[in-house]
Amino acid sequence: MTLMRLDTKLIHAGVFGDVHTGAVTVPIYQVSTYKQEGIGQHKGYEYSRTGNPTRAALEQLIAELENGTRGLAFASGMAAVSTILSLFDQGDHLVVGDDVYGGTYRVLTKVFNRLGIDSTFVDTSDLDQVRQAIRPNTKAVYLETPSNPLLKVSDIEAVAGICRERNVLLIVDNTFMTPYWQNPLDLGADIVIHSATKYLGGHSDVVAGLVAVTDEDLGEQLHFLQNSIGGVLGPQDSYLLIRGIKTLGVRMRQHEANARQLAEWLKDRDDIEKVYYPGLPDHPGHDIAARQARGFGGMISFDVGSGRRAEQVVKKVRYFTLAESLGAVESLISVPARMTHASIPPERRAELGITDGLIRISVGVEDIADLMDDLDQALRS
Ligand SMILES: *Cc1c(COP(=O)(O)O)cnc(C)c1O
Repeated sequence: MTLMRLDTKLIHAGVFGDVHTGAVTVPIYQVSTYKQEGIGQHKGYEYSRTGNPTRAALEQLIAELENGTRGLAFASGMAAVSTILSLFDQGDHLVVGDDVYGGTYRVLTKVFNRLGIDSTFVDTSDLDQVRQAIRPNTKAVYLETPSNPLLKVSDIEAVAGICRERNVLLIVDNTFMTPYWQNPLDLGADIVIHSATKYLGGHSDVVAGLVAVTDEDLGEQLHFLQNSIGGVLGPQDSYLLIRGIKTLGVRMRQHEANARQLAEWLKDRDDIEKVYYPGLPDHPGHDIAARQARGFGGMISFDVGSGRRAEQVVKKVRYFTLAESLGAVESLISVPARMTHASIPPERRAELGITDGLIRISVGVEDIADLMDDLDQALRS
């Protein structure tokens, strides 16, 4: 038999249904502890922080979707990030993308720095910057691609090559692409992280984080940290994620088709300063994105010229909900400088190009004609 194709994997990978009853969905094992027949004699589960069957089904699913050997599910993307960062010791150094998620920047510069773990932030789309930032005590490079909110593209395979040469880990946050479009482990990354709160859940109803790795020892080490630190995902939320992932393919294709049309339409307008979407041929990261991923995703950003106009637009739209987060069926709109990226100091935001007039849209799966009509009236007002 041929290997399962991706859309089939979303339904049949991991654990299919329940062997005990024939139920076609994985049950919610709402349980904290498990009966032991004798001391230490159990059926693989002792206590639900260490392992829970619903969570285990999800963990196996993300491992298979990312072509890894081990998956881990956490109570949030940040719980996943913080557990990964707990791999490192006092005196270690990390090279981190200069436009990583605001919460990742915050935990590195306000929490892990206090524990003696130092970070240097560079533009990871520039390989020379990555090379030059690696020091003798550097233990990992951490990047997001495409990044948030300017959708800069980093070459995962090339960065992985540098990391291998210098014996440092490569950690990739794959939240924006999902395993449907991009598999960083196949490109040489050691650890892939997701905020499953976004596309994997897909319905704005779960906060969760997922991790996958190829190396089995690293997988063991991360399970030790997951169990020691304790930021695990509960069974109910694990169930909701398994449910969300089943439709990841149909959703991602629609997100992308809508995003592509919206990006092209915005680009043709003369009242928009700039449009950022890796699917546009003139996007600086277009060729790398086309090579390393199977699609360009559903996130677009554009500059309307001023903070005042951005505020007007987000006030006038009807189908784009003003909210943080992304990746769900409904379109969301945000002004990064005042919302998701507000915790980044203003001088730093200016350096990064996150202007006050920048609007980010997580394009939903609504009818594209309605999305265009709506954005058109908001931009004209
Ligand atoms: C949202 C997000 C996170 C954090 O995840 P939470 O589930 O909100 O804790 C990390 N990385 C990226 C790219 C995100 O968008």
